[in-house]
This record gives sequence, structure tokens and C-alpha cells, in this order.
Amino acid sequence: MAIICPECGATDQHTKLRHKQLLSLGHYIFGFVTGLIGILIWYFSLKSKFQCGKCSQPFFTRTPTAKVFLVLFHIVVSALLIAAGIAVYLLVLSR
Ligand SMILES: [Zn+2]
Repeated sequence: MAIICPECGATDQHTKLRHKQLLSLGHYIFGFVTGLIGILIWYFSLKSKFQCGKCSQPFFTRTPTAKVFLVLFHIVVSALLIAAGIAVYLLVLSR
């Protein structure tokens, strides 16, 4: 899976810049709830900043690795929501 520049469509020679995408409040809540593993998963799922080797335009995109971690991220979020739902259901039932 090649990384494609959104400006000119070039697929190679991009320079990876150090900056990651800014974090949202949801990321912090997720990291707080899941602990270190969750923090690592979302860190690796973040978009990375690249500079195009052809038109020098900076852009954010996910590397193939980040896409895999994004899927993992969604699985963990879904599992958490289901677990929370079951917990609430059990609490309501036990009364
Ligand atoms: Zn470009």
C-alpha cells in the first residue's frame, strides 16, 4: 500500500515529518480507560505528517501500519462499549 500525496498523486519519495496528528479529548478518555495498551494502540493508529517528494506539500495520512492499528482501535472501542452495556444490563437486572 503506497502513500499517495493528496495534492499531486505522487506515490513515493515522501519525507516523513516528526509531527503526529493532534490528539482529541476522546483519545485521552480512551487512554485513561484502557491504560497503557490502549494508549499504544491509538498512538500507532494516528495519522503521520508527510511532505511530498514531488510538490513539497505537507499532508497527513496513515501508514499501512497505522491503518491496522486503527482497526484494532475500533475493535477495542467496540469491546469496551459492549462490556459497558453488559455491565449496565447486569446492574439493572440485579436490582
Ligand atoms: Zn505532491
